Amino acid sequence: KRLVARQELADDVAPDTDLRPRSLDQYIGQEQVKESLQIFIQAARQRGEALDHVLFHGFPGLGKTTLAYIIAHEMQAGIKVTSGPVIERPGDLAAILTSLQAGDVLFIDEIHRLNHVVEEILYPAMEDYQLDLVIGQGPGARSVKMDLPRFTLVGATTRTGLLTPPLRDRFGVILRLDFYSPEELVTIIKRSARLFGIEIDDDGAMELGRRSRGTPRIANRLLRRVRDFSEVGGHKVITREVADRALTMLSVDQSGLDEMDRRILLTLIDKFQGGPIGLDTLATVVCEEKNTLEDVYEPFLIQSGFLVRTPRGRMATAAAYEHFGRPMRRGKGH
Ligand code: ADP
Repeated sequence: KRLVARQELADDVAPDTDLRPRSLDQYIGQEQVKESLQIFIQAARQRGEALDHVLFHGFPGLGKTTLAYIIAHEMQAGIKVTSGPVIERPGDLAAILTSLQAGDVLFIDEIHRLNHVVEEILYPAMEDYQLDLVIGQGPGARSVKMDLPRFTLVGATTRTGLLTPPLRDRFGVILRLDFYSPEELVTIIKRSARLFGIEIDDDGAMELGRRSRGTPRIANRLLRRVRDFSEVGGHKVITREVADRALTMLSVDQSGLDEMDRRILLTLIDKFQGGPIGLDTLATVVCEEKNTLEDVYEPFLIQSGFLVRTPRGRMATAAAYEHFGRPMRRGKGH
């Protein structure tokens, strides 16, 4: 079992090209996050110290991992990449911590999924750069203390609320990533297209940018599929028309909704008079994990004004009815 790996999702990496921007300059959007990081990085470098621990929160695919690599690059430091669910035992974390060199970045994705025994090893490590480990059990157990090099922990999570307060409090810097505007996605798409060596015009890039759910990972994924479509169709340039036909074929509609988005909204509208219904019921009816609904689908539907969360449950909005051309009946929920 590998605890540390360059974790890379198939969708993020072309066989020959890595699309991740390497420096803060190349990182598009998230201006406030970049500005803060710039200052902290510069200050740490001037003092010749490791950067304070940083927590990124934001929905999947918005660029948290990319920023962890960028921090290491800007600090001219090494990086180890792992994730919460992979670190099962305290010894696993101890092995990673003792392999770090001074100044290194340790990136833990899905840090909210660390179990609590492992998490407790992390507290003194983050605070005092101390490893405090109990080896063995019962009367034979002994405690091992060790100094660790000064490292920077970069954690990523979807929501800070998922972290225990003691863990959250040990991060010096907490930064939130937002959805990207279509214009920012256009810049990302054009950069990726350049790296792929394919041509896309302004309208084509805008069509993709508009329909990528505010998420760079999705923009890059759709660009790959549109590229396949245009190559097979013999198109030299990805125009709006080419992009539109490809996206429609991929079941990505005019507002960027995919099949699951539509299933969620149509379930609410057609089966539950628009809601409100609870998350459990919704998850069961659309056959999707509750967590995935909450962290992947709902944020975008809420952001685009198609869905609202109320204390009594999820509801489809008037915009959702309009999107599907359904007349809105005024039920008890409205
Ligand atoms: P997360 O860790 O938040 O799930 P990643 O950092 O893995 O997201 O980003 C997903 C993909 O999107 C990356 O492969 C990267 O190419 C691209 N990406 C993310 N943010 C940006 C950005 N600001 N500028 C350019 N590309 C980005």
